[in-house]
Amino acid sequence: MNFYELIVIGGGAAGLMAAYASAKTAGQTESNTARKIRVAILEKMPRPGRKLMLTGKGRCNLTNLKNWEDFQAHVHPNPRPLRPAFYELSPEKLLQLMTEEGLETVVERGDRAFPASHRAVDVVDTLQKMVRNQGAQFFCGKEVTGIQRLPADENLSPDKVAAPRFEICCSDGSRWQCSSLIIATGGLAYPMTGSSGDGLRWARELGLAVKPTFPSLTALVPNGYKSVPDNSKTGCIIERDTPLSELGQLFRGLSLKNVGLTLYIDNTHVREETGDLDFTDGGLEGPLGFRFSRQCVHAMRNGAHIRVEIDLKPGVSEEKLAREQKDLAELLPGDIVRAFRTTALNRNNASAAPKGLTEKERLAFLLKHWSFPIAGYVGYERSVVTAGGVSTDEISPKSMGVKSIPGLYLAGEMLDLDADTGGYNLQIAFCTGYLAGQSAVKEMKKEN
Ligand SMILES: Cc1cc2nc3c(=O)[nH]c(=O)nc-3n(C[C@H](O)[C@H](O)[C@H](O)COP(=O)(O)OP(=O)(O)OC[C@H]3O[C@@H](n4cnc5c(N)ncnc54)[C@H](O)[C@@H]3O)c2cc1C
Repeated sequence: MNFYELIVIGGGAAGLMAAYASAKTAGQTESNTARKIRVAILEKMPRPGRKLMLTGKGRCNLTNLKNWEDFQAHVHPNPRPLRPAFYELSPEKLLQLMTEEGLETVVERGDRAFPASHRAVDVVDTLQKMVRNQGAQFFCGKEVTGIQRLPADENLSPDKVAAPRFEICCSDGSRWQCSSLIIATGGLAYPMTGSSGDGLRWARELGLAVKPTFPSLTALVPNGYKSVPDNSKTGCIIERDTPLSELGQLFRGLSLKNVGLTLYIDNTHVREETGDLDFTDGGLEGPLGFRFSRQCVHAMRNGAHIRVEIDLKPGVSEEKLAREQKDLAELLPGDIVRAFRTTALNRNNASAAPKGLTEKERLAFLLKHWSFPIAGYVGYERSVVTAGGVSTDEISPKSMGVKSIPGLYLAGEMLDLDADTGGYNLQIAFCTGYLAGQSAVKEMKKEN
């Protein structure tokens, strides 16, 4: 049996930061006690930070420098429980910490921060070094398979700072006990990186409420974009490796800059924004597509029909477009003209303009209302983040501790907190991990 006063399960962004903060806090308070708080981190993959390596297309957009008021607008479904953690390790404090640890950072468009090297591996290396330097121990290739609460032990053996409260089993048969436990096993997105929802299962087993999960920041697949059977249900998962149809091939690679996007749920206009859209091998993506994906996936899972409309000329009114009409080639880049002619201008297409318009008016209408009914979305396999998770009502936001289970703390994507693209999700993971690590040690000291 292995014993550590504190064990962190999961060596992702939240777990690494939790291990660092707890070991540092333990080190700082060590002089008050003859015995040392020992911290271990159990990670099931051969190396920690596998998902971090993929972030920001390998560049790692590690945080966003917006102040709380602006930051919280990008956090779903309810940012309030994040506030104390955000202030404990604010984006500025995170960057300062990284700089102190030798990682230079740069802030780019939209307040997004990256390592100056633009290499995600440098963030992972820095975090690992931070954890090691504080004396926490790494155990990689340790897949936790179960967690059990132990009955209260009044007789504290002299070699321990705090009595064991949890027992952990790993797939290799090893068993571990700890007094405080931080679970930071992530959500369900990109399971090949190690996050396969284990923490959500344990949370349910421990009696905690888990909000239904669904993929977010994921590609929306327009009707006819992929070679799926005609009778497939709309609003379903269409995996990324499903072959593109002829139409999909025509669109793949199109990048639309500064276009308008309007979302219709069951034909009701619900939202309209401007930004950049990409058609990829998955479907409709890019910053603007991702911003809409959470709401779209949630609606589709509830049986709603989704349609989006692209406004290729958001700065020009329909009337002006009809009046001053130029040749399509003057209005749009060549690759977009081809896709537009094949779909919007195809009279068999459902996106046809209202009847009774002149030819010029019809073209102007279609340029402003290029319609795409959505057939489905790419699932967890290749989605960026998991929406839903352990209800934030279960935790105390000031510590990240589970209200009903002393000694248990949760951090990162496994919580019912997710955000838009732009560094917000990693900031959530880092600051909740940091607060959990710090609180777990402070609490342990108070109890002894
Ligand atoms: C392709 C991609 C790009 C992204 N880019 C960005 C970006 O640029 N900026 C941004 O802010 N966010 C980005 N995100 C989102 C961000 O990476 C996540 O929200 C964040 O990493 C979540 O951190 P976490 O520590 O909670 O979970 P994870 O990073 O998923 O870490 C969980 C860890 O727990 C381990 N684990 C799971 N189960 C067990 C078990 N049973 N036993 C032991 N260990 C276990 C896993 O192996 C994993 O290492 C991106 C996500 C993806 C998929």
